[in-house]
This record gives sequence, structure tokens and C-alpha cells, in this order.
Amino acid sequence: MGRVRDALLAFYDAHKRELPWREGVSAYATWVSEIMLQQTRVETVVPYFHAFMRKFPTALALADASSDDVLAAWSGLGYYRRARMLHAGAKVVVRDHGGEVPHTREALLELPGVGRYTAGAIASIAFGQEAPLVDGNVVRVLSRVFGIDRELSPQDDELWSLAQALVRGPRPGDLNQAIMELGATVCTKDAPACQDCGLSRWCEARRLGKQAVWPRLPRKKAPRKVAMEALLVERRGELLLCRRREEGLFGGLWEPPMVERSMGDRRDASELFAEVLGCPVEVSGVASVVRHVLTHRELTVTVRPGCLGAPDAMTCAGPYQAARFASRDALSTLGVSRLSRKVLESGAEIAEKKPRRGKLR
Ligand code: SF4
Repeated sequence: MGRVRDALLAFYDAHKRELPWREGVSAYATWVSEIMLQQTRVETVVPYFHAFMRKFPTALALADASSDDVLAAWSGLGYYRRARMLHAGAKVVVRDHGGEVPHTREALLELPGVGRYTAGAIASIAFGQEAPLVDGNVVRVLSRVFGIDRELSPQDDELWSLAQALVRGPRPGDLNQAIMELGATVCTKDAPACQDCGLSRWCEARRLGKQAVWPRLPRKKAPRKVAMEALLVERRGELLLCRRREEGLFGGLWEPPMVERSMGDRRDASELFAEVLGCPVEVSGVASVVRHVLTHRELTVTVRPGCLGAPDAMTCAGPYQAARFASRDALSTLGVSRLSRKVLESGAEIAEKKPRRGKLR
């Protein structure tokens, strides 16, 4: 274990990437970066991290921000529940910890959205504690080095025990980052560079030629195909947007009204929209069809221009809690998903349809 540890730290010292959250490490910056990095590539995260830290430089600033401001800063990064939980976590930090991110793994685990991976990352990287962590990269490196020949996930107890044994000793934060860095840049999924790897002398996968076999991971389910309808209503140059309820997919984000069309549902699109908007809707044709892939769903969205028959009667049922008309410029101040941007861009040229006055809730 000691030699593996030394080799990991030597690798990290020689090859670690310069990343913004590694400069002048703070617990808050580590927290933000670790949440952003979940399920998301480093290159994608870097510009979001810079912008987010400029806008919300402290937990206090984040706690004080509106939900729209936070989701606007997260727009396009995906997995928006992470942003809502980070926001909620900042409020707890201000309320219960005087605005300082707590130091212990146990206290960190009490924060919304902080599981044992994130708690381990903050405790080890920001506070130098011997706290382990396991993510997808760690699963890959440990399974190969120690030759674990069974189905694994980041929740696996044996992996957490190995990570705990490795992190004991000097520089626990660097050690944790070293394993993840090795997994991201050398011990990659499809092309591990064993000839350049400082762990190769002790690596079971290398010795047995099992790099392509380990880690054994659960087979992923094919994404579910989902048909959707989107409604574009434009009035005096502004677009109708609805805000999704906080819970669920895209919670808290603004989007043109969208409804899922279940298989066999033959109703007109106008009927489907009338159901969620609570007022008559008239649609005219198809502006475009947008395809969008999420982790578990493959969406095909039929985008239709249309107008509202009685905006005053709108009640926003189903997944929506509010509605408003917004200019295209205002979109940058609201949380809007990448899917919604695609839908809005695809229908950017729609004509204004039968404008009527009416106050929206
Ligand atoms: S020797 Fe190869 S398989 Fe083993 S840890 Fe290094 S890169 Fe991964």
C-alpha cells in the first residue's frame, strides 16, 4: 500500500493539471468544483466554475442569491438538482456555521447534496483530513491495481476500505486527487497508458492483461425514447416561458411549455397544452423537431408555434408553477436548460400569433 501511495503522489507532483480550483484552495471553491464535476467533464466545468465564483465568491453570496440567479449561472451545465442542492447547502452553511464551510466529514455530510464522495473531497483537499473518496475514476484505478474481479460501483464497500487505507498518511487531499487524476488522464477506460504509469509494477490488470476487463461495471440501460411537444408563443417580441416546479427533472428552470406525449395518445397538441396551461391553446403546424439526449432519456420534441386563447385564465398545472413572457435578452438572467435553448432557437423565426392582452401568473 505504501509503494502505491508513494507512486500516486509522485505522479501527481509531476503531472497534475493546472485547474482553477487548485489555485489557493478554499473549502467553498472545492465544494463548488466537486459538485460541478459530478457527471461532467473538466473542460466543460472550467468556464462555468470561473463565472460562478465571480458571481458567488462566498457561501454567503450564494446563500443570498435568488434561485433564478443560481440556475442562470448553471444553465447549460445540466443535472440542475446539483445547483439547487448547492444553493440549499450554502443557506445551511450561513445559518448553522456562520458562513464557513464546516471542517469535519460528519458535519459536511449534513449539508444538502453532500454525500460521502463530496464530504471526502472537501475534508481531504481543503482541510487535510484522511477522508477517503470513491468516484468512477477511483473505481477504475483501484479495481485494476488490486485486481477486483466482480461487478463494482462507486458504493462498493471494499473500494471504500481500500481508499481509506490509501488516504492514511501525509497529503491526503493530494493522494485523493492523484487517484482521480491518474484515472482521468492515464488509466483511462479504453486506452490505459500502462507504459507511462507509475503504478504498473504493482498493477494486477497490467500483470494479467485484464485492463479491458476491469472494472466490471453494471450494464447501462438503454435510454428511454420519449416523445414531447413544445409550444412557442410569442407576443410583442417576448416568449412565453413556464417555470417548472422545484422537484423533478429540470426543477426550477424556465422553458417554453412542454408536454410528454405518451404512447397511443392521439389527442391534438392543443389539447395537451391546454391541460397544463389551463386555457385554450391554438397551435399551427410544426416549426421544427428537436432531438436531445439525457442520461436516461432520448427526447424527440415537436416544436409548434401557437397562441393562447385566454391568457387571463392560465393556471399552470402539471409540472409548472408559474409563467411569464420574457424577451430573448432576459433569458440570460433565468435558469434555462440546453434543451430549452435548442427548442427556442429552433423556433426563433416564428411569427407572432394573434396577440391578446392578459396577465400571467
Ligand atoms: S498499469 Fe495500466 S491498468 Fe494499471 S493502473 Fe496503470 S494505467 Fe491503469
